[in-house]
Amino acid sequence: MAACPPGEYPLSASPPTEVKTTTCYMCACRCGIRVHLRDGEVRYIEGNPEHPINRGVICAKGSSGIMKQVSPARLTQPLKRKQGSERGAGEFEPISWHEAFELLEKRLAKIRSTDPKKFALFTGRDQMQALTGLFARQFGTPNYAAHGGFCSVNMAAGMIYTIGGSFWEFGGPDLERARLFVMLGTAEDHHSNPLKIAISEFKRRGGRFVSINPVRTGYSAIADEWVPIRPGTDGALLLALTNELIAQGLYDREFVARYTNGGQLVVTDPTSPHFGLLATDEDADPINPLYPQNQLWWDRHSDGPCLTHTPDTDPFLFGEFTLPEGTHVRPAFQLLAERVAEYTPEWAEGITGIPAATIRRLAHEMGVTARDEKIELPIAWTDCWGHEHASVIGNPVAFHAMRGLAAHSNGFHTVRTLAILMSLLGTIDRPGGFRHKAPFPRGIPPSAKTPTGPEGVQPDKPLAGLALGWPASPEDLFVDDDGEPVRIDKGFSWEYPLSVHGLMHNVITNAWRGDPYPIDTLLIFMANMAWNSTMNTVEVRKMLNDRNADGEYKIPFVAVCDAFQSEMTAFADLVLPDTTYLERHDVMSMLDRPISEFDGPVDSVRVPVVPALGECKPFQEVLIELGSRLGLPAFTNKDGSRRYKDYPEFIVRHETEPGSGIGFLAGWRGQDGSKSMLGEPNPKQWDMYAQNNCVFHYRLPHSYQYMRNWNRGYMEWAQRMRVRRWGDPVIIHLYSEVLQRFRLAAEGKWSGRQPPERLRERVRKYFDPLPFYYAPLEAQVTDMEKYPLAAITQRPMAMYHSWDSQNAWLRQIHGHNYLFVNPRTARAARIEDGGWMWAESQWGKLRCLCRYSEAVEPGTVWTWNAIGKQPGAWNLAPDADEARKGFLLNHLISEELQHGGARVSNSDPVTGQAGWYDVRVRIYPAEETGVWPEFKVMKPYSGMRKTPLKWLAYVAGGRIER
Ligand code: SF4
Repeated sequence: MAACPPGEYPLSASPPTEVKTTTCYMCACRCGIRVHLRDGEVRYIEGNPEHPINRGVICAKGSSGIMKQVSPARLTQPLKRKQGSERGAGEFEPISWHEAFELLEKRLAKIRSTDPKKFALFTGRDQMQALTGLFARQFGTPNYAAHGGFCSVNMAAGMIYTIGGSFWEFGGPDLERARLFVMLGTAEDHHSNPLKIAISEFKRRGGRFVSINPVRTGYSAIADEWVPIRPGTDGALLLALTNELIAQGLYDREFVARYTNGGQLVVTDPTSPHFGLLATDEDADPINPLYPQNQLWWDRHSDGPCLTHTPDTDPFLFGEFTLPEGTHVRPAFQLLAERVAEYTPEWAEGITGIPAATIRRLAHEMGVTARDEKIELPIAWTDCWGHEHASVIGNPVAFHAMRGLAAHSNGFHTVRTLAILMSLLGTIDRPGGFRHKAPFPRGIPPSAKTPTGPEGVQPDKPLAGLALGWPASPEDLFVDDDGEPVRIDKGFSWEYPLSVHGLMHNVITNAWRGDPYPIDTLLIFMANMAWNSTMNTVEVRKMLNDRNADGEYKIPFVAVCDAFQSEMTAFADLVLPDTTYLERHDVMSMLDRPISEFDGPVDSVRVPVVPALGECKPFQEVLIELGSRLGLPAFTNKDGSRRYKDYPEFIVRHETEPGSGIGFLAGWRGQDGSKSMLGEPNPKQWDMYAQNNCVFHYRLPHSYQYMRNWNRGYMEWAQRMRVRRWGDPVIIHLYSEVLQRFRLAAEGKWSGRQPPERLRERVRKYFDPLPFYYAPLEAQVTDMEKYPLAAITQRPMAMYHSWDSQNAWLRQIHGHNYLFVNPRTARAARIEDGGWMWAESQWGKLRCLCRYSEAVEPGTVWTWNAIGKQPGAWNLAPDADEARKGFLLNHLISEELQHGGARVSNSDPVTGQAGWYDVRVRIYPAEETGVWPEFKVMKPYSGMRKTPLKWLAYVAGGRIER
């Protein structure tokens, strides 16, 4: 046999393979994987059959993690921008970690001791927000958030403010028992593999799957029925469906009466100071003032008012009543029915493009399936009012929705309407419907709060509250005495009161403008804010490079931590090289977003399966190091000395409060690892996870697995385990008293805080306690005749946004993107299939390639997100398809709008959710070829590998050149 070059083996002489388990991070789904290593290198990745999330299934991304490890785009050493070079030019010199830490420590210590809000920390789709949030709070800055504000905060807020839980990490469709499954605004999901498994099993069992989406891709491709809808109009459809359900009497009356606030009486006397609030019995014990339980029903038996859930009473859902002291009241359900009465299927047809007959048919199918195909499980349980139930009932209609509903400036009310529709069908935390995942359900809203004024930010002190919280009234806003924002992104201000995930998409623009104030240092972790994660890309890149008259950058210092050379890293003054997911410890924690299942809490970890490349350091370690150097209390001992050697030790030893027994991980707690959920730190906790597929799964008794909003056994368990602070029932808010409190303030009828004059009408309009439909803000300020088409993006199945732009295998699936146009629309515009075309919005235009597609409704054009690249970025060849033919729709989207006579974020006025999918365009043929706008070529940085010539040899079993 011929001798092999060093490091290469003929198959027959292959050295043995070692297999290690960890958790995938090629997308946010968190599947279990088995990584096969030979000679210290990753050679194969498979799904872990013993993992609860994916049960052995792996996707194209997951198995391509092997190429992430060897990507030529990897950063390998800390880099500092060369003196005299411009931001964006990507000219760096290597520095040591020691120098990098000294630089950051000096800068951050000065900020902390003077004005901590001048430090802003914003992170992308990281899975360690419990740590990044803790760091920001300990530092004392309010300016922290992760990607949620520009992702799907409307999904979280709209659902949690209504039912106390949400989709994806916090709950989902029970497809094991559902008969009808309706998916809205979802192409490919964060919950990717589990949903694929569940849908395939659901279809094999004969379930019917309806997909409502402007585009038929991803899951919709295997739907039994595709219902095309115009983007941003889902709210109109859902209101019309709700109208039909009520009009036809197809709602679950018993569920609505007992488990929602539909029977609760609302004060309808406009002269009353309590107008629009729920009537209460002031003499009765509210039990918990945060979530009072002294509201009133009008009892059908006695025909008089009574405390809700009084034994042997049953509320009227319709009617108009007068309380003994003369106050006029109506049940919330009556008000809901009156509200949706105007939203007929015929009205919705004109907005959504869905025929009225289809809307009626869908409403009927949902209502009849829920009513006539009930499931009864022989599981006894006791509700919060002491009633014992012999079984759990399920109405088997399940829904799932994601960013397609959320990423519109009318998304909050759309999602709230969906949650109301699901509640009317009686499907909340019931078999075959929507099921919660721990730590949800939570109180409405959850009790976590930010500080309420600028005094919450003090030099050398932790923030006096959380950076992100859940306002329940104007008193919870984070504003100054004039009602103006304290946060750089204006989160929790009167402009975006319920911005529970912040507004990352406005940070750079606001900091550049110095509105509400300039900052000093912006630290970005794994977010491509100079490219696909920002709106108005061209201008935002200029802002990052813009200077004051004195020559100082408007954002004086930008640090970026990432594993790869993205477009954003080029704008950094300091680049910190992160590790990949195969090189580090990580936790998917109950304190953050665990991988819980319907049957109980589940958390999981990553453990390193290969050493870190070059000088790469996990961002977690960077934060522990900085926290220790800066003397932040959570990271240091009383004498100021460092408390934790490293991140793994921090995870094991950190407790939410000294002696609380609650840490980042819930499994194998206690000195000997025998305790779960609560217990003293266990030094061997990491080993236990590593020996158990990196997963801890706590299965609740069956009687605690359903009806958790109102399940006494579950509530008591959750309180004991400190999953919940209180054990009160979580009544569904068909009618939102929280929103009404803000509306009363806007109308000058609230005794507490009032919005600034310029914002009164905005708050009054959008803080409606009942769901309503309005066109997205952008549509309201667009010439719809000139720009008749909606333009949207989707994340492809094979790439998680830009994460694998550099992945040699996945690039073979998506090397460039097209603008997909319905043939009728394209032909009318005289654009050829495969031809170059212009797409133009009121904000800008771009040149791209057209592809005809019947799988898109004619009023919409769409493309894959984040495939187009700046030439040379991610260490791709400058003439790679991603740069020559790929394009970014973001150039057509603005981060701000002129609306109501003022400049506002292009976001939902309730939550600050970025209106990504609201842009309107026109299209026409291009004479010239090639993508436009054009960008300069990025060059590789110091320490980056050359693109290997031997990709195929590597795949076949050879070793890659280093
Ligand atoms: S779905 Fe996501 S987490 Fe699961 S294997 Fe694929 S890339 Fe990995």
